[in-house]
Amino acid sequence: MAQLLLKEKPIATIQGVLFDKDGTLSHSEPNLVDLATGRIDQAVQRFHGGHLNVNEVSQLKKLLSAAYGVNSRGIHPGGTIAVASRNQNLISTATVFCLLGESWPQALALADEIFAAVDALKNQAPSAEGKSALLPGVRSLLQSLRSKGVICAVISNDTSAGIESFLDQNNLHDSISEIWSAEHQPAKPNPEAVKALCNLIGLAPAQCALIGDADSDLKMARQAGIGISLGFMAGWNQPPTLTAHQHLIHHWNELSVRADTKITHNLSSP
Ligand SMILES: [Mg+2]
Repeated sequence: MAQLLLKEKPIATIQGVLFDKDGTLSHSEPNLVDLATGRIDQAVQRFHGGHLNVNEVSQLKKLLSAAYGVNSRGIHPGGTIAVASRNQNLISTATVFCLLGESWPQALALADEIFAAVDALKNQAPSAEGKSALLPGVRSLLQSLRSKGVICAVISNDTSAGIESFLDQNNLHDSISEIWSAEHQPAKPNPEAVKALCNLIGLAPAQCALIGDADSDLKMARQAGIGISLGFMAGWNQPPTLTAHQHLIHHWNELSVRADTKITHNLSSP
């Protein structure tokens, strides 16, 4: 059991922390911009066989960018590509094709083809895929939590392979005990996802903090009865708009952890 402090002020006593990944632990924006750009480029090449005039190309790019949450400043932290699962992004892409007159079966097939083509391109050039770097201060916080016996887990709408790759790239397997991905049922933002992940790490939601950069994370946490819900603001060029938090974190160095001295004393007493 440990005490969580925000700017040196105790805010909760916890035994576990559930972290969102993209925009919370991971500096995901550059990779997600690349992913969105790749899908948009493939859409331009493949929609109507690539036979589009300048205005049609412009309209297609504009609608897909809006659907994904891509703008001139980067990624909207609450946008589809930042928050939603791959499958939800696929549906969102197909919906844009429907808005441009395509039938649903054709739209869905084309979206599927585009996503597969971008995945294949990434696999052909793994060096260009880019690492999902940690946001500043993440590693030392995770080490500090681990040293105090706090169990950490990741709850994300990325695939299991995507989360594992992130943990591999950043050598975080010692710090993260369990993951809950888009493939786990139910996926977030269902509050049952929080309860199931807490169960995996052997804790009750009330014994845990959840930290995320999306209101859907924080609402889910509260509905699941989490001990404390914290919003992380510094994962994107554009700060997210959050309302369901108990506290906000603007840099990971604002958060610290110390052993719960009262509990330590009680445990060591005869
Ligand atoms: Mg996130």
